[in-house]
Parts: sequence; C-alpha cells; structure tokens
Amino acid sequence: MEEGRVLDKIPKVELHYHVDGSVRPETILELALKENVKLLETELSKFKAYVQVSEECTSLKEYLQKFDLTLVIMQREENIKRIVIELLEDLASQNVKYVELRCSPYLFMKGGLSFEQVVESILSGMMEGKQKFNIKSNLILICMRHHSPEESVEVVKKGKKYIGKGVVAVDLAGNEADFPPELHKEAFKLAKEYGYHITVHAGEVAAPKNVITAIKDLYAERIGHGVYAEKDEEAYRLIRECGTAVEVCLTSNVQTHAVEAMEMHPIKSYFEKGIKVTINTDNTTVSNTNLKKEYEILINEFGFSMKDIKAVIMNAVDASFLSEEEKKQLAAEVEKEFKLLNIQ
Ligand SMILES: [Zn+2]
Repeated sequence: MEEGRVLDKIPKVELHYHVDGSVRPETILELALKENVKLLETELSKFKAYVQVSEECTSLKEYLQKFDLTLVIMQREENIKRIVIELLEDLASQNVKYVELRCSPYLFMKGGLSFEQVVESILSGMMEGKQKFNIKSNLILICMRHHSPEESVEVVKKGKKYIGKGVVAVDLAGNEADFPPELHKEAFKLAKEYGYHITVHAGEVAAPKNVITAIKDLYAERIGHGVYAEKDEEAYRLIRECGTAVEVCLTSNVQTHAVEAMEMHPIKSYFEKGIKVTINTDNTTVSNTNLKKEYEILINEFGFSMKDIKAVIMNAVDASFLSEEEKKQLAAEVEKEFKLLNIQ
C-alpha cells in the first residue's frame, strides 16, 4: 500500500487540539451570516483568509488573531454543540481514536452564557459525537495567560464538578511572551489538589525557564510545544527526568515562528534522546493541517519511519489523561490496527 494511504488508515491519537481553532470554515461563515456579523468576505475560498494563517504570519500574537471571528459565533449553546460534533466527525473520518479537546470556557461566555452552559454544551456534543462516530474524547479546560489569576482560580473551581464526567485536565494558554506562567501558580496548585491532570503551554515562543516553572511550580505532566526546552540544559534535563510528555505541533510552530524553519525544529533530537514526544495539530483550521499532514512532515523532513510514527502515537496513548484501564484498552485497539497494516 502506498504511504499516503497507510497514513490515512493508521489509528491516531490527538492530545493538543483547540476547539475554537478547529471549526470548519464553512460553519464559521454560515453562523456568522446567520447572526448578521459584518464580514468583509462572504465567498468561502476568500473567507478562509480570515480564519486561517497565511505564509506571512509573523508571530504567535498574529496567529491568535485568527480566532477572533470564531469566538463571535461561539456564544450560543447550539453553536458550540454543533461545532464539537462536526469536529469529532472530521477526526473520526481520519481514524482518530481518541482526542483531548481543549478550550477556555470564559471565551464563550461573552454573550451571556454561564460557565456551566458552555461546558455542558461541549460535553453534550462530545457524547453525541461518540454515539454517532465512535470517537472517544475528553476535555481540557484552559486558563488564559492574559486573564487575571483570579479568573484562572474560578476556572479550576467551577470545572471541578465535571472531573471524571468528561473533563480531565487544566491548561494554561495564550500570549506567552507577555504573561509568564508563575502568575497563575495558585490556580494550578488548586487544580493539583482537586485531582485534575495538568498540561501547560510553555517554551512555545518564550524563555525556556517557563518550561521549568511549568513543571516545578504548576505541576505540569505534559508541556504544550516545549520548543525552547532545547535551548536550556536544565529544562531539557527536567523533561527527561520527570518523563514529561511534550505535545509537539510542527506546522503551528513554524507559523508562530517558534522555529524559523521546519528543519530547525528539535523534534528529531527530542525523539532520539528518548523524550516522550507526541504529535498534534494545535488548530486544524487556523493552521490548515491535520494529523496525516503532520506525520508526512515527520517522514519527509525528519526521516521518520512508519515504525517511528507508531512509537509517537503509542507515546500519545501513554501520555493521555485517560485512566490506566482506558489506556490499556486504547493501546490494544491501536496495536491491533497497526498489526493489520503490518506495522510492528
Ligand atoms: Zn495550543
């Protein structure tokens, strides 16, 4: 079987996936028109430029602007639920077996929805997605770096009742250059006490010391991106010693200029040195990518074999926030499908 077809068929796991960065462009357009949002472009092919980054994207800040319009239409329960169902449909069609969705509920509360309405709309979409498309998912609640530390504490407190009911973890995301992780220490201490799993965006576009703070002071079990860890011996050592998994998002890292060019990405060195790397998309719409494209980059740019790709996917199973029992089941399912494709 030719390689592209094999990549279509292999079982996949996605751990770093922002809901609001992965909405179908046609859905954003349709809902924006329905809600009379002023648009500069209403023809789909041209409209995409407003929700997807171009080659000229120069920074994470600019990258984050592509979420603005999507957030406008994600202020209603029915829209949120529909979006979640659609993205699960899209992922299931690519044979993604398990996904950890993430979003900041506060970003969907600007139109008057409560925290509970937002989270329950997402959970209800996840449940329907599971029934219709047989794809398992969990939710990670994001605390935004540029929001107040008090709000992060609120996210942790309000989300507590959903732990074990679809919510598995908290995350810190957003503008890393201007807001260091230690600002939100209190929220993450509480999250640890409550029994959330913890992942933190760190070392994406700024100081490697953020990776150290994330692990030591915010109790991160996984690091989002972690590109800058390569530049600092202590960060590197800590990741290896703690067995911290790194959620790598190759295309996104080039777009946000976390790395200046793909060949400068440390993925290969991380993989060879035994760091638990996982491959993810970050935002399928904003970054215009999917897991297959990311695996193709591993093969074409970094010389990964199909066996290496399988190892990276098994890393994701292992680093997932599923229970040990669920991990075993997922690992068995993934192994079985690889075996059928003659990939050991
Ligand atoms: Zn991210």
